[in-house]
Amino acid sequence: MYKIPEVILTINCGSSTIKYQLFTTDVREVVAKGMVSRIGEPGSTVEQEARGRQFRQERPVPSHHQAFEAAVEFLLHPEHGAIRALEEIEAVGHRAVHGGDLFFESTLITDEVVEKLEELVPLAPLHNPPNLVGIREARALLPGVPHVAAFDTSFHQTMPPKAYVYPLPYDYYLKHRVRRYGFHGTSCRYVSRRAAEMLGRPASELKTVVCHLGNGVTMAAVREGRSVDTSIGFATFSGVMMGTRSGDIDPGLIFYLYRRLGMSPEAIENVLYKESGLLGVSGVSNDMRVIEERARAGDERCRLAMEMFAYMVKKYVGAYAAAMGGIDALVFTAGIGENSPESRGLVCAGLGFLGIELDPAANDLARGREAIIGRPGGRTAVLVVPTNEEKMIALDTMRLAGLGKNAG
Ligand code: AMP
Repeated sequence: MYKIPEVILTINCGSSTIKYQLFTTDVREVVAKGMVSRIGEPGSTVEQEARGRQFRQERPVPSHHQAFEAAVEFLLHPEHGAIRALEEIEAVGHRAVHGGDLFFESTLITDEVVEKLEELVPLAPLHNPPNLVGIREARALLPGVPHVAAFDTSFHQTMPPKAYVYPLPYDYYLKHRVRRYGFHGTSCRYVSRRAAEMLGRPASELKTVVCHLGNGVTMAAVREGRSVDTSIGFATFSGVMMGTRSGDIDPGLIFYLYRRLGMSPEAIENVLYKESGLLGVSGVSNDMRVIEERARAGDERCRLAMEMFAYMVKKYVGAYAAAMGGIDALVFTAGIGENSPESRGLVCAGLGFLGIELDPAANDLARGREAIIGRPGGRTAVLVVPTNEEKMIALDTMRLAGLGKNAG
């Protein structure tokens, strides 16, 4: 007889894409993985890989509602699908970007939670509205199961006030919620825990610096399993330079661009968000692969972009080691952190005084997989841990839905 395989669904709903994964309820296996792209734009696509079968379609997807319909059709597809009925889905986990100062951890979604998320829209005007659309659509589609929200900001809610209050008039913090929030928290939580497991040591004993180096970059200081400082602040600009975002700059520059060059606030925002970082300096690409290749071929601006990037990461490693009074583990993750031995080498060069020394052969081999890349016997462990935000969301969902006894 057909046995109902129970699964859980994770959803990451952005402004023009929906990504979803189906996990077994022990969260050890991904049963299906799919994406609806270019929602509301020309050239929309739906693609899915389920139980080893690929399925892709170009078709109009004018709204998020239709994107959900397409995803359901794919999941239930008799030939290419993964499940036979929506009832097989036991719980749903949602990636939620901004939990502000209201959500300290992942949470079961109720009508009250949705209201609070609406209240937080001004803090994340680009991200929270599509997250809310995803939550509404999925709750309408699967009303009988628990839905959980996992926030990008919540891991960093353990920062002390000296790390999150900005040196502005205090009223801005009290009245307008102006403070450091931090992002990529689900990734930092996953990789810092996984690093402790790989080292066979309890997270409660470790001082870890996480380098989440992707198109977006987050540096995080994690002491005893809790975030104590992080590089992204109120919006998603600050910290290390990113693919197209500037990272740390002197705010005085903004007034210079406004007054001297006559740029509008929108034009300045656009430059800092979309035309700066690796792209701005190299003048060719926001993709580290392209930049490394051109630097090897002698392009000096690409070399400079690579060096600036690694230098900024290195400075945060030093700052966070100082903030925590030491460092036991340095963890690289996300696109660049997982795949670029050259960037990792530049970051670690000269950090021997912090006990950070790479094993060059191990560093070179570690591409997109878990590895310990520090010199054996080195004082500070150096690791590559591929991030897996979906797995972390699925684990939280199982736990909060009361289903996760065997999840791991
Ligand atoms: P993410 O945002 O985590 O998907 O990371 C995306 C970035 O990772 C891309 O923009 C690339 O710059 C970088 N990346 C991916 N693969 C490599 C690689 N093999 N070498 C260097 N950088 C890479």
